[in-house]
Amino acid sequence: MADEKYHILVVDDSESAREHVRIYLSETNIKAAFAENGPQAIKKAKSNPFDLILLDVQLPDINGIEICKILKSDMRTKDIPVIFVTVASDKESLVAGFQAGAVDYITKPFKKEELLARINTHLKIKRYMEELIVAKKKAEESEKMKMAFLSNMSHEIRTPMNSIIGFAELMQDENLPAEERKEFASIIINSGEQLLSIIDEILEVSKEEAGELRLFEQKFSLRKFLGQLQTIFINRVKDKPVEIVLDIQEDVPDIILTDKVRLKQIMDNLLSNAAKFTDKGKIEIGCRLLPKNLPLLEFYVKDTGVGIPKGKHDTVFERFTQVEENLTQNFRGTGLGLSIVKRLVIFLGGSVSLDSEPGKGSTFTFRIPYKKPEKMTFGYAPEKEKRPDLLPKNIWEGKTILIADDVVQIFVFFRETLKKTGVKMLYAKDGKEALDLYHHHKKEIDAALIDIQMPEKNGLEVAKAIRKEDKALPLIAQTGLALNIGKKESMEAGFNDIIYKPIKLGQLVKILRKYLG
Ligand code: ADP
Repeated sequence: MADEKYHILVVDDSESAREHVRIYLSETNIKAAFAENGPQAIKKAKSNPFDLILLDVQLPDINGIEICKILKSDMRTKDIPVIFVTVASDKESLVAGFQAGAVDYITKPFKKEELLARINTHLKIKRYMEELIVAKKKAEESEKMKMAFLSNMSHEIRTPMNSIIGFAELMQDENLPAEERKEFASIIINSGEQLLSIIDEILEVSKEEAGELRLFEQKFSLRKFLGQLQTIFINRVKDKPVEIVLDIQEDVPDIILTDKVRLKQIMDNLLSNAAKFTDKGKIEIGCRLLPKNLPLLEFYVKDTGVGIPKGKHDTVFERFTQVEENLTQNFRGTGLGLSIVKRLVIFLGGSVSLDSEPGKGSTFTFRIPYKKPEKMTFGYAPEKEKRPDLLPKNIWEGKTILIADDVVQIFVFFRETLKKTGVKMLYAKDGKEALDLYHHHKKEIDAALIDIQMPEKNGLEVAKAIRKEDKALPLIAQTGLALNIGKKESMEAGFNDIIYKPIKLGQLVKILRKYLG
């Protein structure tokens, strides 16, 4: 309050009264303007956004009550609080004043303390009212956006879910030709992946809100990384006359050190949008190094799609925002992608901008700092995926792994995937069983895959208990991102590695090769 400047209007025909008020206010943060009569007061009030009006009732031309009524009937002045100044004996004016819309009164001759106390109280109330109105408006807007988001989300989730259930039912037909079975399976996989990316988006937002984003830098080949993205997206737009080109300037270093997972999320979101909103033409993925003294890499995704009107350039980066409702009926989406992009770019220490014109296309550009690579220490980075059917048959004959997961389907997935390798699998459905199995088969177990979230004992507890007895056994944590338990906690508990659910075949095989040979 003390730092704010207030502006009030003092209306009084007596020069000495005005002078008194001027002196009293001179030591405060309240600036005063003065009017001697009704017309002057009304004119000034309508052309200045006053925070309060101190209004003498007895004026020579129009009396204060009438002035107050005029002020309260005008949009520009109706919300300015009015304090009446009267003589003590004039009780009638007081009642009329309140009826006309005044909030308070003060009797002449007034004391400095009383005057300031009344003025300050009403200035405070007015400020709070204004804040309340802004907060209410914000809450209403966010409620509206959430409702739109929820109904959109329901559609987003139902569509792939319907495909999964529908095609799985069709696959129950034993006479289904192999060709169709294959096709239906691939629809189910695609729909599952679609669902997963929606879940990832929602989790990403909740992680941001909980301040749970963590940087995990790793070194990788930028050209390979962008090349893989190009391939993925060429496949995504294969049914449209859209080409996807790569433009990496020569001086861009190949091996860089940054958070690859986050960079991929950013590029994925931008490219998904470009692919979604471009029907024909070109999508360009570019990367260049900024001038020598700035250790910044600039990436861009440029498309020849529908474009975005200028007025929406800032709001598209806000959550749940989609440019046109009827447009997005055709183009699915949650309205979260770009808000995630913006936050992730900022998280990586960079900035993002948009240049776009409706009908011509859009260019999203972001810059992030990059470092010279140092050696990587912990964590599994999915590079090339090795399919298990490409592994030599019975490669792990004689080896034993312990699998602990309360979701039996996960074990079934491991069992089916690793059948050909000849590995022996021990299954525990909770943390306690995992430790029991470990104690019974200690000598034969070559590695353990342990889920972090389990009943009885969680995965971190299981790992700690095993580590007390065996420092060398390879322990691999499995985790769903929802848990927000990251590499640091897993490493501290004694895990050697971490693998994220849903686990892909190639990922699983690669990590097991690392420990089983
Ligand atoms: P959504 O999940 O709806 O795609 P985003 O936050 O990623 O959410 O994008 C918000 C909105 O911005 C989109 O709905 C679309 O209207 C607009 N938009 C984003 N990228 C593009 C683009 N490349 N071309 C045209 N419009 C775009």
